[in-house]
Amino acid sequence: MKQLKGWVIDLKILKRINLTSTEIPTYFFLFILSVLFFLFITFIIKLNITQIIFLIFAFVIIFLIVNIFFIRKRNNEIQLIINIMRGIRKNQFNTSAEIKLPGNLNELEVEIHKMYRKIENDIDRLKKLEKVRTEFLGNVSHELRTPIFAIQGYIETLLNGAIDDKKVNRTFLEKANQHVNNLNNLLNDLIDISMIESKQMKMSLRYFKLTPFIENIISEFKESAEKKNLELNLLEINPELEVFGDKERLKQVMINLITNAIKYTEKGKVEVGAEEFDKNVRVFVKDTGIGIPEKDLNRIFERFYRVDKNRSREMGGTGLGLAIVKHIVEAHNSKIEVKSQLGIGSEFYFFLKKLKRRI
Ligand code: ADP
Repeated sequence: MKQLKGWVIDLKILKRINLTSTEIPTYFFLFILSVLFFLFITFIIKLNITQIIFLIFAFVIIFLIVNIFFIRKRNNEIQLIINIMRGIRKNQFNTSAEIKLPGNLNELEVEIHKMYRKIENDIDRLKKLEKVRTEFLGNVSHELRTPIFAIQGYIETLLNGAIDDKKVNRTFLEKANQHVNNLNNLLNDLIDISMIESKQMKMSLRYFKLTPFIENIISEFKESAEKKNLELNLLEINPELEVFGDKERLKQVMINLITNAIKYTEKGKVEVGAEEFDKNVRVFVKDTGIGIPEKDLNRIFERFYRVDKNRSREMGGTGLGLAIVKHIVEAHNSKIEVKSQLGIGSEFYFFLKKLKRRI
């Protein structure tokens, strides 16, 4: 600004029309260039000094009028953009189509529309997350309430005299104990699911031998299968077969799948096995149990979704097992799948990368 002092044009006029200090030198530069060009023309067509002064004066006036017109127009456009931003902030628009700018600002209008839609999507996503969170909290409180009420009921009945009744006291204590176990299962599953969903679950991926891994897990279930008169078989797997994954987490997956298979099978067998392909292995748990209705197949991996709520609870189910399985399998870049027929049985399976041996 300072270096321009003393020029013919009063800077205050430019200030009044809202020029910023960085724009003023540009305008002066353009102005001086135009005057020089103008003088050059008058020199060519040979005007006298009075005509030249008159023309310069006329030129200055026209220059200022034209500039004021354009700057006003630009200021109006800026004001319009500011109003649109305020409108977006105050939720005054229902759709992005309501945001309109003059034709020359088409590109800006397109960008504002994109930004508006992005904000809309972000807000939708946050609302959905909030809904999921509220539903989850509702489910958790409900799931906690059920065993706590049951335990409370048994303890109160015992305290009110049943403790001396030899016919029922032991049964009531056993039932209360069963609900304590359910509560414990639920808390463990909740801890797992919150660790997984908050991405705190660290995976430790390496190759390991599949046969001893599955044999070990199956041996833990022999007793519970025998209690229900079920066969529990490990189908033959290549003993040298090595798969890539987190052994501890996959153990959790297998335990959940085998527990369910035994839980939801009344007669017949549960088979665990692995089918070898060129690059991967299909690990499966198959049962001859009650099966899952077609309409529920997509939903059983959701948190707290159960086909038969009462049956699941009676058997100590938390409704979180398959949600945990799904997360863990997906962390192995794989997908848990299910095939099932009501009354015939179910098969849960997923693929793991296998170690290719050089021949
Ligand atoms: P739960 O603790 O209730 O077993 P899961 O998340 O493990 O919860 O399973 C969700 C639901 O899927 C179960 O309540 C049950 O209805 C159904 N389900 C899971 N595995 C089987 C199976 N092998 N056979 C029949 N139904 C099953």
